[in-house]
Amino acid sequence: MRSVAVVLPLFAFLLCGCELAPESPQSNLTWAIAVHGGAGTIDRDAPRARLQAYEEALTRALVKGRSMLADGAAALDVCEAVVRMLEDDPLFNAGKGAVFNERGEHELDASIMDGSTMRCGAVAGVRTVRHPISLARKVMTETRHVLLAAAGAEQFADAAGVERVANDWFDTERRRRALQEVLGERERTGLLAPRDRRHDYGTVGCVVRDREGRLAAATSTGGMTAKKWGRVGDTPIVGAGCYADAFAAVSCTGTGEEFIRHGVARAVTARMQYGGQSLARAAHGVVHGVLRPNDGGLIAVDRFGNIATPFNTSGMYRAQANSSGLFEVAIFGDESAEGGR
Ligand code: ASP
Repeated sequence: MRSVAVVLPLFAFLLCGCELAPESPQSNLTWAIAVHGGAGTIDRDAPRARLQAYEEALTRALVKGRSMLADGAAALDVCEAVVRMLEDDPLFNAGKGAVFNERGEHELDASIMDGSTMRCGAVAGVRTVRHPISLARKVMTETRHVLLAAAGAEQFADAAGVERVANDWFDTERRRRALQEVLGERERTGLLAPRDRRHDYGTVGCVVRDREGRLAAATSTGGMTAKKWGRVGDTPIVGAGCYADAFAAVSCTGTGEEFIRHGVARAVTARMQYGGQSLARAAHGVVHGVLRPNDGGLIAVDRFGNIATPFNTSGMYRAQANSSGLFEVAIFGDESAEGGR
C-alpha cells in the first residue's frame, strides 16, 4: 500500500511532468486579448491630451478585438485586424507614422504566428506596403516560406494583391523632427545608439486566445529612429519579437537587437514548456531577469487566457480585455508585482 501511495503521485508527476503549466483555466473565461503600442521612455509629464490620444487609440483597437472575439472570430483574424488598425494610426510607429531610418526613409517589419498550427509569416524592410501585417499573413498562407525581405517582398505584395503606397505616404512631421534630433545628438556625442528610447516607441502588437482556445500573435513596426539602412529588428524574427505555440502567444517591443540576442518571445514559452512556469513567472523572468533595464517589454496570453504585460521601461502603451469583463488600458505602472505568481 505504502509503495502505491508513493509511486502513484510519482507516476502522475512523470506523466504530466513539466509540460503542464501550473495555472488552471480561469472560470468561464472563453477569450482574452492584449494589445501594445510600444514600450520606451514615455514622459509622465507629457500633455494630458497627448496621453489621452494614445489611450483612445488603444481603446478603439481593444473594442474592435473584443467585438470580433465575442462574435467567435479566430485569433489570427483578430490579431491581423487589430494590428491593421494600429498601422493606420499615425500615433504609432508602424505603418503610417513609422519612424525614419538614417536616410530619411521608412523600412517596415512585421510578423504573425498561429500557435495552433505553428504556421507563421513575416516581412522585413518593406518600403511601400501599407499594411505589412497583412503581407506577413500572405507569406504565411500563400508561400512555403516564413520571411520575405525588401524588393522581393514588395513584388510578392503585388502578386498577392496587398496594397502599396509611396514611401513618403508614411511620413509624419513628428517623426521627421525625431530623426533630426537623433541625428543631431549623434553628431554631438558620437554615440551611434542613444539609450534614450523616447523616439522609438510605438511598435504595435496583439496577442489573442480565441473561443476555440487557439493562440495567435502579431507585431508590426517601423523599427528604430535613425536606424541604419537595411537594418532588420526583432519584429519580423519569429521567436524574437513575435511567437505563438500551444502554451502562449507573445508580442514584443523594445531594442530589437536585445530581443534577437535572447530570443525573447520563444524564451517565454520555452520556460512554460520545459520549466513548467506560469505565464506570469516566465514573462516576468525574461523581461526583468534576462533583458536589461530600458530594453522594452512584451504582451502575452496563455492557453487559459491569462495575460501578462511586463516591461522594464518607464512605460508601455498597452490594453487588455477578456470574456469575463476585464477591459483595461494603461501606459505607466510597475508590472513587477506579477512576478513569481
Ligand atoms: N522592436 C522594434 C525594433 O527594434 C522597435 C520597438 O519595439 O520600439 O525594430
